[in-house]
Amino acid sequence: MILCYHRVAEGSSDPFQLCVTPTNFAAQLDEIARHGEPSTLAELPVPSRRPRVVVTFDDGYADNLTNALPIAEAKGIPITVFVTSGVLGATHSGFWWDRLGTLLGSRPSGISEICLPTSEGTVRVGLGTSSAKEDLQEVRRHLLPLPVAEIHRVLDAVSEQWGTSAPPPPDARPLTPSELVQLAASKVVTIGAHTVDHVRLRGLPEQVQKQTISSSKEELERLSGQAISHFAYPYGGPDSFDDQSVDAVRSAGFETACTTIPGNARPAGDPHRLPRRIVMNWGRLRFRMGLERWKLVTRH
Ligand SMILES: [Zn+2]
Repeated sequence: MILCYHRVAEGSSDPFQLCVTPTNFAAQLDEIARHGEPSTLAELPVPSRRPRVVVTFDDGYADNLTNALPIAEAKGIPITVFVTSGVLGATHSGFWWDRLGTLLGSRPSGISEICLPTSEGTVRVGLGTSSAKEDLQEVRRHLLPLPVAEIHRVLDAVSEQWGTSAPPPPDARPLTPSELVQLAASKVVTIGAHTVDHVRLRGLPEQVQKQTISSSKEELERLSGQAISHFAYPYGGPDSFDDQSVDAVRSAGFETACTTIPGNARPAGDPHRLPRRIVMNWGRLRFRMGLERWKLVTRH
């Protein structure tokens, strides 16, 4: 079973529910060690008496180093961190969805729609008719297929229209290059790649896919001084990558690639389409229920 995390933080503002608190993360690691065999992706094919459980993190948030690592090290549990190489050190712009979250949260009163000036024309999305969370999901849906540089340009334009700077929350910043080096130096850490820019791969020209996939590998190898053998598709769902992405990942030399398609990895499964289980900010009992539902733990 491969688990997918994003952040370990208190998450004062966490509209996409990416944060697991340090307390809950520690409790979850204890449950993993109690019911499974904490493992790396490389160990996955090796037979084990207890079911193997792999802890992975997507994106490359700084709190993976400051909050998650000390807990994983104290418990001796391996973690794999899939890093978006081009976002390393982008402390001010960060990840676009975090910018979007604070931007929508700072919407001036009286504004009932957001105008997204994309290269294909202006997209207008009504705001405030449903919940703030639904507004956020709806705007995200329109932005997600665009090139990442364009998403940032669109968000710059909206900030200007609304007269708000709305930077992402400081605690949601990505790792810096030197923090990546520190993280990679830990015995419990495996660094994996997550493209250069976190673009949605599906439908992009083959060369564009190959470029962002293999350049992230090369850049992370250069920084960490280690071979980067594992990959995770950005967003990871069935609509976020295609057969060309899988070919590009395989030909770039990655041994495994993780999706976010739910399931448990099987020995006969495709190592470049590994399923994962997304973990939420659950306490010990709720997490244990997840392990039962996912068939790691048999109810007695
Ligand atoms: Zn991601």
